[in-house]
Amino acid sequence: MTKDFEGLVAVVTGGASGIGAAIATRLHADGARVMVLDRDIPAGEPSTVHGLPDGVRALHADVTDDAGVRTAVEQVVATYGAIDILVNNAGIGAQGTVADNTDEQWAAVLDVNVIGMVRASRACLPHLRASSYASIVNVSSIAATAGLPQRALYSASKGAVLALTRAMAADHVREGIRVNCVSPGTADTPWIGRLLDAADDPAAERAALEARQPHGRLVSAAEVAGAVAYLANPASSSTVGVSLAVDGGMHELRLRPQ
Ligand code: NAD
Repeated sequence: MTKDFEGLVAVVTGGASGIGAAIATRLHADGARVMVLDRDIPAGEPSTVHGLPDGVRALHADVTDDAGVRTAVEQVVATYGAIDILVNNAGIGAQGTVADNTDEQWAAVLDVNVIGMVRASRACLPHLRASSYASIVNVSSIAATAGLPQRALYSASKGAVLALTRAMAADHVREGIRVNCVSPGTADTPWIGRLLDAADDPAAERAALEARQPHGRLVSAAEVAGAVAYLANPASSSTVGVSLAVDGGMHELRLRPQ
């Protein structure tokens, strides 16, 4: 049986860890030729990523470096001959209220989380236009739509991703490029592991994060990857400009306290 992404080429930014690694693994399992672009990959020819299937290739690229992103995208095309799918997943966090983060921190987080998606999309667009199955999936967050404490800067960046997704969807739908986003709740990744490690009481912090989600647990990276695979799938060709929540009901539900 033909796999869903057979013959297609996917680029996943931030694919060396967590959600991005799960997305790269899933798209590869579904038949895509996958190239990870990540700042944590050594510069040079395409390499493998520790912990990912051998068939997933990776290139060094920092999404804050426009020239570096363009060079990496051209290396993808030189390696695989095309780009059909771009997953803009690379992102970093920030904690605090508006009183806490400096202008430099605001600039740094928006540079990765928002402008990074612009740079990767801009570099991939000419190649996506040449594809019959072109799709961009951006990784937003529950923080885009729910007011979470101590996440002013991060939430602003992910709200921008949501707005950018809709604007990009409108701009590119008539040239055959579908743009959508996923909005995960708190997901069990190395990022959250680092946050928990830094907490005074990691077990209590984890329990509080789990209790915040109506289904009572953290989201898995594989579940987010499943949503990305749905959105990027050529069979989803009428799904355009949506934000697909993967948050255990956190966005939509209002449960009574237990
Ligand atoms: P992670 O820290 O485990 O992985 C992030 C990856 O992005 C790393 O491999 C890192 O090297 C890469 N990266 C960071 N900055 C980069 C840059 N400038 N250029 C290239 N690569 C860069 O994090 P994760 O939890 O897997 O998060 C992935 C995405 O999912 C982020 O956009 C994040 O905002 C989003 N998200 C995460 C959660 C969560 O709870 N973990 C929830 C909602 C949304």
